Amino acid sequence: MANETPDPKDPLGAIDTPTPRRKPKPEVTTIGGRELKPSTLMMGHGYDAALSEGSLKPPIFLTSTFAFENAAAGKRHFEGITGKRPGGAEGLVYSRFNGPNQEILEDRLAIWDGAEDALCFSSGMTAIAILILAACNTGDVIVHSGPLYAASEGFVAKVMAKYGVRYVDFPAGASPEKLDEVMAKAKAMAEETGGTVPLIYLESPGNPTNALVDIEAVRDARDKHFSADTTPIAIDNTFLGPLWQRPLDHGADLVVYSLTKYVGGHSDLVAGSVSGGKKWIDAIRALRNTMGGIADPNTAWMLLRSLETVELRMQRAGENAAKVCAFLKAHPKVEGLGYLGMIEDARQQDIYDRHCLGAGSTFSLFIKGGEAECFRFLDALKVAKLAVSLGGTETLASHPASMTHLSVPEGRRAELGIADNLVRISIGIEDPDDLIADFEQALEAV
Ligand SMILES: *Cc1c(COP(=O)(O)O)cnc(C)c1O
Repeated sequence: MANETPDPKDPLGAIDTPTPRRKPKPEVTTIGGRELKPSTLMMGHGYDAALSEGSLKPPIFLTSTFAFENAAAGKRHFEGITGKRPGGAEGLVYSRFNGPNQEILEDRLAIWDGAEDALCFSSGMTAIAILILAACNTGDVIVHSGPLYAASEGFVAKVMAKYGVRYVDFPAGASPEKLDEVMAKAKAMAEETGGTVPLIYLESPGNPTNALVDIEAVRDARDKHFSADTTPIAIDNTFLGPLWQRPLDHGADLVVYSLTKYVGGHSDLVAGSVSGGKKWIDAIRALRNTMGGIADPNTAWMLLRSLETVELRMQRAGENAAKVCAFLKAHPKVEGLGYLGMIEDARQQDIYDRHCLGAGSTFSLFIKGGEAECFRFLDALKVAKLAVSLGGTETLASHPASMTHLSVPEGRRAELGIADNLVRISIGIEDPDDLIADFEQALEAV
């Protein structure tokens, strides 16, 4: 928290926080009035080759600290860092705050979501934890959708509880009436303990069921009970972003990613990010400056390479998933699919039509039977790999009830629809007919 005594009207803290920046550079984002698309901007945006000996690609800046031009410049930077002078530091200072690779990455990440600014972190969970810690004070109440990624749910329910922060949750897909009720309840709870509702935290689609949250309805309920200036809506967009869902267009204020998944996309790094309005981002940056948790330069560089192909990879994975799901749906050993391209619920379909630009490539496969049948299927796969995680170039399959969600109590698992016969599949960019052949022979083993 930036302030000693946080202003309840500005729950994420003071906004006159450090914003270390490289020297300003000219940016080409339009040509003759035409706005360049993200896929074009990924090749150069935020990088000036003249600052790096003309190197076409950004070098990896392995340094812990940055030399000041002179003592007066050093003083000015620190005046910016400490908030003595508004506007932040005018150059790079120290690598816990930022570095060239991370700043280029942040500039490019912001483009995908149409955000003012972005921050990168050493993991998705670091991003989520720092976002939540920056927002909350003792006595506050977080409103969140369910299910959340298991570690996010644990962070809110167990870690934040230690600091006197409570939560109210609602099921993804909740109706406007239910959302209205939940906000009113959270407001009353916060008033009892002298706190506020400083954050509404969503995850959509939920993991592993693919249940969608109606972001627009959440925004309307927020606006009725709270103010957009005090109660931001943050959403974990890991499953569909950045290509298939743009939450800032639908009323969210902050977008969170595990960059480990689709954005990194090669199952070879761990990182996270938060994008959104400058007001919120600056406050989260202040806590990151204090705690650390920024992505390292090498990981940031790898992500710059990943971003050049993110659209290509996600498009191909999405096309592959549609073909694989068409095959699986018709198979006699398959009970059903939790795939956003084949929604059966009218309310979920309505949310999908308003919010989503594609069905993604991660889905649930319900095999007729239970754990034993799923294990036989998983053990027979030859192309798809048996591993948790998602969004990589390779197809992965896992069994949530006995793996990622084993720690979730059985009753809660049932409530969330995490059945014993559910296999989660993340489709990669292999040849789709090879994938279908693999699933066909694995289903024969069931
Ligand atoms: C993986 C994941 C996270 C956590 O990200 P890490 O990079 O593993 O810390 C958070 N949310 C969702 C939806 C995820 O899939």
